[in-house]
Amino acid sequence: FKINMDEIEVEGELGKGNYGSVHKVFHRPTGVMMAMKEIRLELDESKLNGIIMELDILHRAKAPEIVEFFGAFTIESCVYYCMEYMDAGSLDTLTGGGVLAKDLKEEDAENPELRVPEPVLRRITAAVVRGLGFLKDELQIMHRDVKPTNVLINKKGEIKLCDFGVSGQLEKSLAKTNIGCQSYMAPERIKSETVNQNPTYTVSSDVWSVGLSIVELAKGCYPYPPETFANVFAQLTAIVNGAAPTLPKGYSDDANDFVAKCLQKDPNRRPTYGELLQHPFLVADIDAEVDMVGWVAAALERRAERGISSLNPIQAG
Ligand code: ATP
Ligand code: MG
Repeated sequence: FKINMDEIEVEGELGKGNYGSVHKVFHRPTGVMMAMKEIRLELDESKLNGIIMELDILHRAKAPEIVEFFGAFTIESCVYYCMEYMDAGSLDTLTGGGVLAKDLKEEDAENPELRVPEPVLRRITAAVVRGLGFLKDELQIMHRDVKPTNVLINKKGEIKLCDFGVSGQLEKSLAKTNIGCQSYMAPERIKSETVNQNPTYTVSSDVWSVGLSIVELAKGCYPYPPETFANVFAQLTAIVNGAAPTLPKGYSDDANDFVAKCLQKDPNRRPTYGELLQHPFLVADIDAEVDMVGWVAAALERRAERGISSLNPIQAG
């Protein structure tokens, strides 16, 4: 089915990113609650239509670890993209036990109660790695934007990836405006994009981003020092030349080894998705009983206690 704006009721804003905003919407004809992403692009109509056509391959991206795509359309210079609504939001808001990374205090980071328990961390990592493996094997695409805000979770405890790079034209249009303050880019990708303008990074760059995201989940905050947030150059220098981040105390040797393998500076030494799935850290997940539903519920409760709602209702009028 095709989706258009006339059939949609906007319920509220779920979040804002660098390129636009995401709203919770109700699609009347199907009765399905969706998340609608609005991306404002200064492109002519033929380019916008090209993007819509490229996004069409998302209809083939059906896997338990991938957020379902419902359809996309354009209005004026905006692309609207409708996907499965994930009712617990993105992982960045659940870490630190529901404390937003930016609100996490030094002592919170030391509090084991707020730490993501290893079995939960393992289950999330396994889902992310399987999702990325699916994208690579079935759709021949790399994600290009692995980070906690692009890993979504719902109250059923399902973990799914969104915002992967399916449309070359969309990537190109976004790249120009992208100056993030917290980079998940692998060292070789930073070098390739800044030195030779001609990106030459590969799928193993996503493996770096997986490693960095795991460390962020475990620590509850972006792993490079806050001094580097305001200075893009200092941060990129730290990523390229500094020591790779590590997990906080309390995680197993297997977990530490897994992260260290992902965060090797030399992309050729990083494991493939197949190898990562066979790492003892993820093998231990296979038969483990993990109460994801309980963990999500507890994290959402803590988030609510801190007055951070997952949905900012839109003011009428
Ligand atoms: P960037 O712009 O760098 O990609 P981002 O991922 O935070 O950063 P968006 O992709 O625009 O930005 O998403 C904004 C927020 O909306 C996310 O942080 C997430 O919490 C929320 N969000 C996105 N998609 C969904 C979804 N399908 N269901 C529920 N919440 C979502
Ligand atoms: Mg996103």
